[in-house]
Amino acid sequence: MKNHPTDPFVVSVFDVSHRIGDEREVHLDATLAERWGEGVAYVDKGQVVSVDLRLEGLHDGILVSADIDTTAIAECVRCLEPVDVPVQVEFQELFAYSPTEELEFSVHDNHVNCEQLVRDAVVLSLPFQPLCDDDCLGLDPETGQKLTEPREQNASTIDPRWAALEALTSTDKTTANKPAAKKRT
Ligand SMILES: [Zn+2]
Repeated sequence: MKNHPTDPFVVSVFDVSHRIGDEREVHLDATLAERWGEGVAYVDKGQVVSVDLRLEGLHDGILVSADIDTTAIAECVRCLEPVDVPVQVEFQELFAYSPTEELEFSVHDNHVNCEQLVRDAVVLSLPFQPLCDDDCLGLDPETGQKLTEPREQNASTIDPRWAALEALTSTDKTTANKPAAKKRT
């Protein structure tokens, strides 16, 4: 009763099928044949996705609970360094013995195919703005190097052009505090 030889996400449910209350646990490690995720963070082709499945025979189908564990790769949006993003997600879904209108998934030939559910759970959990660290300071605009301490501490070495920009910014703030003046136009 191992996984389907050709598809790692297809699991036999023969031994719990129509046995109400019977449970079985299955662990599967699937190596991705293609990349999952189109955004800045994705699970790469060749990455292993580990899934702990619990199969439970119910009256009208098999209840499948899954704990998924894998690693996505991404680029920190601040410093552009590569980041490993741990992915830990879960789902629970009822696979009907016979297809119905309410249930999207059903048992086929005593097997359930979890690929779409695993993939959706993983892809939906991927971060839109991955960070190498919550406190990542990003890149120094002058040197292009990753900052290891806040830029304010380098204020004495500030380029005069940046100083001019800072002056502009503070002017903006002053005007923003006086909305009445803007309305005169
Ligand atoms: Zn970073």
